[in-house]
Amino acid sequence: MTYLDHAATSPMHPLVIEKMTQVMQATFGNPSSIHHYGRKAHTELENARQVIADALAVKAHEVIFTSGGTESDNTALIETAWAKKDQGKHIITTAIEHPAILNTAHYLEQMGFEVTYLPVDSKGQLSVDSVAAALREDTILVSVMTANNETGNLLPIRAIGELLKGHPALFHTDAVQAFGKVPVHPYENGVDLLSVSAHKFNGPKGIGFLYRKDGLRSPSFMHGGEQEEKRRAGTENLAAICGMAQAIKLLSSEVQAENQEKYARFSQIVLQTLDNADICYQLNGDPEHKMSHLLNLRLADVPNDLLLLHLDLKGFAISTGSACTAGNVDPSHVLQAMYGKTDEKIHQSVRISFGYGNTTEEIEQFAQTLVTVIKNLKR
Ligand code: PLP
Repeated sequence: MTYLDHAATSPMHPLVIEKMTQVMQATFGNPSSIHHYGRKAHTELENARQVIADALAVKAHEVIFTSGGTESDNTALIETAWAKKDQGKHIITTAIEHPAILNTAHYLEQMGFEVTYLPVDSKGQLSVDSVAAALREDTILVSVMTANNETGNLLPIRAIGELLKGHPALFHTDAVQAFGKVPVHPYENGVDLLSVSAHKFNGPKGIGFLYRKDGLRSPSFMHGGEQEEKRRAGTENLAAICGMAQAIKLLSSEVQAENQEKYARFSQIVLQTLDNADICYQLNGDPEHKMSHLLNLRLADVPNDLLLLHLDLKGFAISTGSACTAGNVDPSHVLQAMYGKTDEKIHQSVRISFGYGNTTEEIEQFAQTLVTVIKNLKR
């Protein structure tokens, strides 16, 4: 089997498993306990926090551990909404966010907030002017993802950060798909809150963090103990946190750049093989501003669900969209935002995402198999 769905989740790196195993065996203490066991666990916890802070170039106490991207997104939106509700009730986000943002925004609408869902163009790109046009005096939060999980597009985060300078709205970005692939620096981009999830970059599932800029205070979403400086109650999952930090250590900016180059070559192999076989395709996304490990392809007249099943039978795992909707036949809301709700391209598009462990030989085999399956399906 060849796994080409790294945007849904990624395999854990062996060194991550090794680190987690060590921590589970040797450091079971509660980081909040004051005895030896607790202090040892606390040291591991703070070392991991420092690794993350260094990767983001922020202060260690601006990093709050959470259970992953969904919790970080919920926390950022809901806590900001409650903290700023007396200043305004308007929130801006985009139509192509992950359900962790969209469904939280829908919940906030039910709670009396007003949400603007910005459209994107046919390349899935957001215009900064549309953010400027939507911004109001009572806007309290702007949440725009750093990179989209279906197209791989990088959104204009820095320009939005610039735009928001001097405006009281907080700026949140869901960096779940971007972190570990491209450099992510909240200070440089004027970002106040940023979500990350470890299972997207060869770390464990069920762990992530929220970067929250120094000085921001809001009523905590979780109620309980005083962990994480009272910002996130609950005993920290130390082994997973240390595993996440280990995964980050393996992804220096040089390694990230090398990986992106390698995945660009993988994409070229797939596209060249399709060209050689005269197979008609179209790239979904913005080739000028995208991460190269994600290839979203529209294959004319090929139903994507059948393509996925046939490739699976031949040993290749790809996706029709985000993992949360892949289990059912819901059309992609991202492609709908790009092309309109009824466009046939939505049902003819697949997402191929490269990652740790993939080799050139595998990608060549995949590309050949893709051609064979497409030809069979078209017959
Ligand atoms: N945000 C984005 C862009 C994602 O791709 C995902 C996962 O697919 C999430 C949030 C949710 O993260 P988690 O699975 O850690 O809850």
